Amino acid sequence: MAVAAGTEDGCHKGDTVMDECKSRISSEIDFEKAGKQTGFLRLPHSVHRSAYGWLPIPIVCISNGDGPNVLLVSGNHGDEYEGQVILMNLIRELEPKHIRGRVIILPAANAPAVRAGRRTSPVDFDGEGNLNRAFPGDANGTPTLMIAHYIVSELLPHADYVLDLHSGGSSLMYIPSAETKLGDDVKMNAEAIALVKAFGLPIGNIGEVLDDRTFAGTAKRLGIKFVGTELGGGGTVSTEILAMGEKGVRRCLKLIGTLPEGYAVEEAPETRLVYVGGEDYFVYAPENGVFEPYVKLGTEVEKDQPAGAVHFPETPWREPSVTHFKRTGLVLCERTGGRVERGDCVFHLATDTEG
Ligand code: CA
Repeated sequence: MAVAAGTEDGCHKGDTVMDECKSRISSEIDFEKAGKQTGFLRLPHSVHRSAYGWLPIPIVCISNGDGPNVLLVSGNHGDEYEGQVILMNLIRELEPKHIRGRVIILPAANAPAVRAGRRTSPVDFDGEGNLNRAFPGDANGTPTLMIAHYIVSELLPHADYVLDLHSGGSSLMYIPSAETKLGDDVKMNAEAIALVKAFGLPIGNIGEVLDDRTFAGTAKRLGIKFVGTELGGGGTVSTEILAMGEKGVRRCLKLIGTLPEGYAVEEAPETRLVYVGGEDYFVYAPENGVFEPYVKLGTEVEKDQPAGAVHFPETPWREPSVTHFKRTGLVLCERTGGRVERGDCVFHLATDTEG
């Protein structure tokens, strides 16, 4: 079942998107056509060096008769690489005869950020266009807002399922995790959790929508089944995590019904289901300086346990400022890179889901 994103022209009248909101992005490929198509979305971009130019956003559509509609996305953040490699491999591998239904692959969703190897797009006005805080977007906004708007108005109406592959990016490292957001629909929740388990990553992060400007929050609002990942991070590509993610995506596509019953996948390893709660799960740098972590990723910590210390290269004789965990939990995410500013997240925890 395709979900309408709004009115027939994709507008959210009365919503946060402006009424005059037909996307200015055009597609070189036709999502209604059978077979395998590759091409670009063309995002109009008039700048000093190219007055009538467009920014290319690669897109692939593979379609073969009746079946589920799946949208696979990476490069939502440009410096999160495992998902990009996984989807580039999948694009070259998958042919229409291998699948049922339709798979749309957007491997470099925020293409200017992907080209720059940055979390955020350098071509937005502030040079920090964060696609995953730009939903539901704006047809007449910055390039990043235009991409978010295109995804909502033109791609989500073609999607029953979305897989959005993230990693920790340049500033964070995660225990490899799949994640989904729960809502009121018990059946949809069960299906989303089954997909998280099918991913077979060590951690399954089952949460609620905390920020409705995210892709996950938008998909949830539109009733589309959504699974995300945090595949490592640190601005690198880990061979082990890549292999886990490659298998996970194929297991999910088999469970969804895109890949046929007979498609061979290894059984999913056990996934520990966790939850990331409120502010007390997060630890932030208390001052500017150099952060010395006291614990590693994957450690089980206690309330009031020292988490790390900020040292002061500008006044090295000063005692370091020690910060503490506010609750017990598993260290699911840590900051990479030593230099911190007050307010930077240095750790966040997770706790086991009940039942
Ligand atoms: Ca991310």
